Amino acid sequence: MNLNLQDKVILISGGAKGIGGAISRGLIEEGAIPVIIDPSEKEANEILKIAQGRALHIPIRLSTEEDARLAIQKTVDSLGRIDGLVNNAGANDGVGLENGSPEAFANSVSKNLFHYYYLAHFALSYLKASKGAIVNISSKTAVTGQGGTSGYIAAKGAQLALTREWAVELLPYQIRVNAILPAEVFTPMYESWIQSFPNPEEKLAEINSRIPLGNRMTRAEEIAAMAIFLLSEKASHITGQHLYVDGGYTHLDRAL
Ligand code: NAP
Repeated sequence: MNLNLQDKVILISGGAKGIGGAISRGLIEEGAIPVIIDPSEKEANEILKIAQGRALHIPIRLSTEEDARLAIQKTVDSLGRIDGLVNNAGANDGVGLENGSPEAFANSVSKNLFHYYYLAHFALSYLKASKGAIVNISSKTAVTGQGGTSGYIAAKGAQLALTREWAVELLPYQIRVNAILPAEVFTPMYESWIQSFPNPEEKLAEINSRIPLGNRMTRAEEIAAMAIFLLSEKASHITGQHLYVDGGYTHLDRAL
């Protein structure tokens, strides 16, 4: 299947490592030009090397609206267009009801959510011109809960709501908006989370045993494959959808 992504300019927040890194690498394989918005220099440089000049790194940690505005401006100044946006950057920071505070909650929601809106807002005129697509990376925790992480979950749930909301608002421009819900993907973020348990190996084996398809984690490349498909014209009649790429973790009977 030819995805026709050659020369398409796609922004990926958190595009240097983990799921975002796999999306950037997958896009390079398709001939697209990833714009990696991520502070991680070493990992971004590795991707830039593979891209042989056909990628852009914007080394910032998105926080304020000005960060997002500048990232869009730099992209357009260098590459002249935007064909897609993958909102992906985020971290499960464990701000709960008991182990948090109103201030920490507001900060966690802001860190995990606001830049999704900012990037979409500032990229919009370019996405209108290209009839581009947006993919929001959410999490199965938005629909299952996790416990002890109210800020992150509030942001992940809002990303699902915004996916529907933007899909509706952007219908007139033929801009498609979809969300992917990963469950268990072994990324640098996941690794540091698993290391927080007293017996990480045991915890990992326990989680793997509950993943219905193959009793294994989803690979970052498997999330990337869905994201890249959704960005492509082959997904031309898919919008407003929440897609679970999770080996059946969320919906199948985990006792099986
Ligand atoms: P990861 O391994 O930590 O990679 C995320 C990348 O984004 C890192 O390079 C990180 O840099 C960067 N980043 C974080 N905040 C940023 C910001 N504000 N601006 C720019 N870059 C930023 O995380 P991941 O596991 O791939 O997670 C990616 C997305 O998938 C997140 O939205 C997460 O909620 C979602 N997700 C992941 C899983 C899973 O099992 N891994 C499950 C459900 C949902 P630093 O390392 O320097 O912070």
